[in-house]
Amino acid sequence: MENSILVLNAGSSSLKFSVFDLLSDGQLSQSVTGQVEGIGTAPHFKVKNGDAQTIVDIHWQTTDIANHAHALQQITDFLHTTFPQLLLVGAGHRVVHGGADYAKPVRITAEVMAKLDTITQLAPLHNPHNLAAIRAMMEESPDLPQVACFDTAFHRQQDTVAKLFGLPYEYYERGIQRYGFHGLSYEYIASVLPADIATKRVIVAHIGSGASLCAIHNGHSVASTMGFTALDGLLMGTRAGSLDAGVILYLLQQEGLSPKQLEDLLYKRSGLLGLSGISNDMRVLLDSNKPRAKLAIDYFVYRVSREIGSLAAAMGGLDAIVFTAGIGENSPQIRHLISQQATWLGIDFDTTANEANAACISQTNSRVSVLMLPTNEELMIARHTRTVLGL
Ligand code: ADP
Repeated sequence: MENSILVLNAGSSSLKFSVFDLLSDGQLSQSVTGQVEGIGTAPHFKVKNGDAQTIVDIHWQTTDIANHAHALQQITDFLHTTFPQLLLVGAGHRVVHGGADYAKPVRITAEVMAKLDTITQLAPLHNPHNLAAIRAMMEESPDLPQVACFDTAFHRQQDTVAKLFGLPYEYYERGIQRYGFHGLSYEYIASVLPADIATKRVIVAHIGSGASLCAIHNGHSVASTMGFTALDGLLMGTRAGSLDAGVILYLLQQEGLSPKQLEDLLYKRSGLLGLSGISNDMRVLLDSNKPRAKLAIDYFVYRVSREIGSLAAAMGGLDAIVFTAGIGENSPQIRHLISQQATWLGIDFDTTANEANAACISQTNSRVSVLMLPTNEELMIARHTRTVLGL
């Protein structure tokens, strides 16, 4: 821990962190991971060591951790007290939206922060928290070099046609484009694909509480189901996914919803939660025998399957599908349902391997391979931080 990188991932009410040690052979080894959840409401601090054993599990008073700066203070105090030998040489941050300009991670300077401030409105539910964590870190350790790693960056190399909407072109020039998200996850998965697949046409299904698919050809993002915001594409835990824009006009003009009410509906009350009326958690729906739980699961699987067809078309074919994130890594049932609906693409599924959570879950002679690979966005951020800072 004498040469370590702190990775921070700030959400609306949480601050996740990991410490990666730079080993003498150039490898990065995760020594600590944890999070403060419930910032401002019911703060909960949980930390695990490199062997995934819980070493701290504390609930605090609301007033103790009222904001991200307090949470960061607790995290750094804890780290320095518990690991006196810890020497941080850099910090890497997840920043959800990098706008049209950032196609790569960047070292944070005052100019970068000023530029990021101008695009905050592109991701109002994410970027303000990401930037708050950066500012808190700048206050606390002004000399520690920091790097911003963007979820949008991996997709910026897509062809213009993949980034367009059918609006007048000046809207594209004003930044109203398809950006795509979950880029750090996709980039990590692209980096761990088996050699025989890495150069081929792959669809990665990052399906967790946020969910999207990405078409990756020869390691590069070709198209994604998410667009201008993380609202587009698949049905998610509480987000609606793709919606006819006419529905928005109708809700505004005929039903008189305010922009704030619409935001609440689309981000927080739709998706699996809204359709089922039961839960946004796929585990709860899979355990339920209520018809609307089944309806929500059916629609989720249907949307993923349709989008797999669309992304295969964008690449002119398909060689592999990779499942990752909360649902993709942990639910054999959902993987099975989606793979069944995609049989027509040339999938010969291996149900035994799937139930065993194996990395390869298709038969050896399957024309399209199906894989389950755990993602690691934090490691991707640590790698970028090491590279940008030349560590
Ligand atoms: P986030 O987008 O917050 O990073 P995750 O990728 O961690 O989300 O996914 C969290 C979601 O994964 C949970 O809300 C839950 O629906 C789903 N999940 C986790 N474990 C299982 C499981 N065993 N079966 C089905 N779904 C699961």
